[in-house]
Amino acid sequence: MDQIDTTTIRNHIAYLADDRLLGRKPGTEGYQLAVDYVISEFKKMGVQPAGDPGQFTQKLILQNTKVDNGSAKAFLSDTKGNVDSLGFGIDFLPYAHPFSEKASGSGKLVFVGYGVDIPDFYSDYDGIDVSGKVVVFLAGVPDGISASTLISHFSSAGNKMNIAAEKGAIGAVLVYPINSFPNPNPTIQSTVGVNPEKTVAYSRGFNGNLDFALTANNSFLSQLFLNSGKNLTETLTALKSRKNSSFEFPFILGASYSNSFSQFESENVVGLIPGSDSRLKNEYVVHSAHLDHVGIGRAVNGDSIYNGAHDNASGVASLLEIARIYTKGKAKPKRSVLIVLVTAEEMGLIGSAYFASNPTVLKSAIVANVNTDMPTVIAPLLSIVPLGAEHSSIMNNVKFAADYLGLEVEGDPEPEQNRFVRSDQYSFVVNGIPALHIKYGNKTNVPGFDMDAFIKTWRAKYYHQSADGMDGIFDFGAAKTYVQLNFLISYSIAQTAARPEWNEGDLFGIK
Ligand SMILES: [Zn+2]
Repeated sequence: MDQIDTTTIRNHIAYLADDRLLGRKPGTEGYQLAVDYVISEFKKMGVQPAGDPGQFTQKLILQNTKVDNGSAKAFLSDTKGNVDSLGFGIDFLPYAHPFSEKASGSGKLVFVGYGVDIPDFYSDYDGIDVSGKVVVFLAGVPDGISASTLISHFSSAGNKMNIAAEKGAIGAVLVYPINSFPNPNPTIQSTVGVNPEKTVAYSRGFNGNLDFALTANNSFLSQLFLNSGKNLTETLTALKSRKNSSFEFPFILGASYSNSFSQFESENVVGLIPGSDSRLKNEYVVHSAHLDHVGIGRAVNGDSIYNGAHDNASGVASLLEIARIYTKGKAKPKRSVLIVLVTAEEMGLIGSAYFASNPTVLKSAIVANVNTDMPTVIAPLLSIVPLGAEHSSIMNNVKFAADYLGLEVEGDPEPEQNRFVRSDQYSFVVNGIPALHIKYGNKTNVPGFDMDAFIKTWRAKYYHQSADGMDGIFDFGAAKTYVQLNFLISYSIAQTAARPEWNEGDLFGIK
């Protein structure tokens, strides 16, 4: 691990974050330059191609969907046939539908609380039939869910819509805790990955499994409750403490809106380091990091290129260095190791959702995912937060690696950030593969130094800003520790005879 080289890491970041790559947005020349760079580095190291047959790349189709605002209509009708039309941008906004040129539907409206269904714990769907109906649910989750990862998972709008679809609903309305929409006439679009037949959508958000989906706000919810015979405040209080409050409104809700589509290609890059054990080499530990960033945006101080040096050139650089250690060092992993650089993370975890659903190796042969997204190497790395590891036996591998390097393991200090569902490890988790993402911890060796405040200030200035370039703050010693740690975690998983397992009864494991 002493061979891990800070200059090499720095050079990778400098190339990937150069203005020439124009912020690495999928579908642009800049992103393709990043793809070419990774492939040429792989070739230099002797990493083998493991994308589409014989290729380093795995192609996928990205589809952009745009809603025609002028076409969007929604209505409520009561049992007497009185119809109220709802205001676009006032009462509702549609979600872009990835498959329907004209998304439309109507059905009885059912309030389903937070729209969560948590086995052996709490369900908003207990005792209520939503089949063929339209559900309305709130953002967030009830109190009492202990793990920040589960709070993230059950708060996810896409997951709530998936649950609604599984329960047979045909439409959904997600109520955000805001009183009005900030922009009554926004551009509504979303990007998903699609299969060649364009029948399956890969994304973290709405994937077209309902006839339509809308967002609404507090004032819409208040209007609904006014005519329902239920007290909204009491209902919200009951829900918070997990008292099922689902009921059917005496209304029908209908909606329709037009969508237009455009498609373009992008690529994940997949490299293989073959395992050395005759049996275990048929199983894979996957290192992932997103190769894309957000491209060109609003100019700040004359700079419109969002270089993404930390996010996520530093993560990609980490993986390239891990690949070099595996191929040039003496540590030969028993299991095979895949180095996967994914596209379109910033558009909603699309490249990883596609890879984890359609991996270029047998899906059941992937034993774990170690994801890297913005390691935040801006101060000495003394403690870590292994997001997601607490759900499976890979926590043992993390503890081994952290121990070896003298790093402390901390819990998530900011569960409200929902980090677990915000990067590519989540795509592996929802496909049943134990996964983690190592986030920096808050420990410091400078007395009185407030690491938490330092990171928050840094984040406000650099995160998803054009300022996130090579001229920002870097601690390459921390980058080296980070690479050592991630390498040791995957190496330890690759060497352990038993494959990683979800904890007994873990919610992600029984999915
Ligand atoms: Zn990122």
